[in-house]
Amino acid sequence: MSIEVRHLVKRFGPLTVCDHLNLDIPSGELVALLGPSGSGKTTLLRMIAGLEQPDEGSVLFHGEDATEVSVRERNVGFVFQHYALFGHMTVADNIAFGLRVRPRASRPSEAAIREKVKELLHLVQLDTLAGRFPHQLSGGQRQRVALARALAVEPKVLLLDEPFGALDAKVRKELRRWLRRLHDEMHVTSVFVTHDQEEAMEVADRIVVMNQGRIEQEGSPDEVYDQPATPFVLKFLGDVN
Ligand code: ADP
Repeated sequence: MSIEVRHLVKRFGPLTVCDHLNLDIPSGELVALLGPSGSGKTTLLRMIAGLEQPDEGSVLFHGEDATEVSVRERNVGFVFQHYALFGHMTVADNIAFGLRVRPRASRPSEAAIREKVKELLHLVQLDTLAGRFPHQLSGGQRQRVALARALAVEPKVLLLDEPFGALDAKVRKELRRWLRRLHDEMHVTSVFVTHDQEEAMEVADRIVVMNQGRIEQEGSPDEVYDQPATPFVLKFLGDVN
């Protein structure tokens, strides 16, 4: 599913948080929105998701205006920084949740759901933990469950907002490789918000550098790193977190 962002504007009171943004994300690409805190990354992601309405402009999914389409119909998967797993459900039930709440007509059979959960547990290498509860898992394992849960409904678009932000450096590194591998296997169009340049470099096909609601530069990790287009990009990439 390709995503086009056209002249997107979002204001909160006097503050223009997204300032006439234009962006083309080809189908199957993993794009990182990279920038300092407050640069508008999350707001852009939320508008792509349909969780926030733009003041001006539009988001197109596969060439069609998505602004009119409900969040459910956009078929978007989410992974957020703070685990939104259901504490009273096992790992397997968490992963199955999105399928079980579907309207009866589009709900797979319970046998098919169990098969799908098994497949996803294998994909994120948590086969042996299906019966555990979230509080019995490490932070990294929980985010792998969150990823599996997001992928269970076979989303056309996967949106990740600082998904590894709350984890320690070693686990973050491991999960980046995970995400990259999953993406290479599933090719779901993905948008990934991060303030960590190293993370963006390692994970993304393309990096969009944001600053004060504007796009400073867009390019492959090599392009952005080797040829920073503006003094801001040069400085931001040079800063060590
Ligand atoms: P980032 O993800 O890059 O940190 P955000 O998109 O979260 O940036 O926020 C951009 C700016 O918009 C910030 O100054 C933030 O305080 C402001 N902002 C975000 N959401 C709201 C809101 N619901 N109401 C008012 N201001 C908001």
